[in-house]
Amino acid sequence: MRTIRIYDNQPISINEEFILGEDGSNHVGRVLRMTPGESITVFNGLGVEYISKILEVTKKYVKVIPVEEVVRSTESPIRIHLGQVLSRGDKMDFTVQKAVELGVTEITPLVSTRCGVRLKDDRQEKKQDSLQKIVISACEQCGRTFVPTVNPIITLDEFLAQQTDDLKLTLNPYTDKKIKDLQQNNSYRLLVGPEGGFSDEEVNLAAQNGFQSVLLGPRILRTETAALVAISILQSAFGDI
Ligand code: SAH
Repeated sequence: MRTIRIYDNQPISINEEFILGEDGSNHVGRVLRMTPGESITVFNGLGVEYISKILEVTKKYVKVIPVEEVVRSTESPIRIHLGQVLSRGDKMDFTVQKAVELGVTEITPLVSTRCGVRLKDDRQEKKQDSLQKIVISACEQCGRTFVPTVNPIITLDEFLAQQTDDLKLTLNPYTDKKIKDLQQNNSYRLLVGPEGGFSDEEVNLAAQNGFQSVLLGPRILRTETAALVAISILQSAFGDI
């Protein structure tokens, strides 16, 4: 049976009652109108979840008591860090939600030369926060107990300069290497371009920083399709799909 899963960013221990955070209280109390005695599952991103009994529902908060700890393995053996150039409208939200369902471990939203989205500093933070909320909802829905991080929005150059042991890949429609021909690694980093694609300079700069170009077939995919297909192929070839 499907249970309601709520993420709550606070320490949780068996038999220690606590008040759900604002979002969780609101969802369980006001939206779902659950009542004392009913059960929900609560997790705080550390790999376990807690079947919890609702003790009290008021207008302001919901109090629960964790009664059983469940260890769930919903994490892939490989780590995937998605470097996604910001896309317009709700496409970025869609990409982030689906990437979480497919098992991505970290997301960095990027700005590149042909990126159609320009956000001022405070709007950038708001966008990061709203993407993180989308990640949390996706985890609640899809059964993950680990919550991927959405990093602050940075430029492509900053992303390329980061030091990492990840196997680094640029999704590039103008190459011939396929993901399934890559070597197995513990962690992968995917660079996905915007609607307008990457410039030649950007692809070259990525290559100089150790990103190898990979192709997703002969058709040009929309940016949101490209990210999700690449994650699916990585999970199928080296992970848990
Ligand atoms: N108009 C652009 C296409 C952009 S598609 C152009 O012609 O270059 C958006 C992004 O999706 C690309 O930057 C690339 O990262 C990825 N992508 C789309 N189709 C792809 C394919 N067949 N193989 C690899 N990456 C692809």
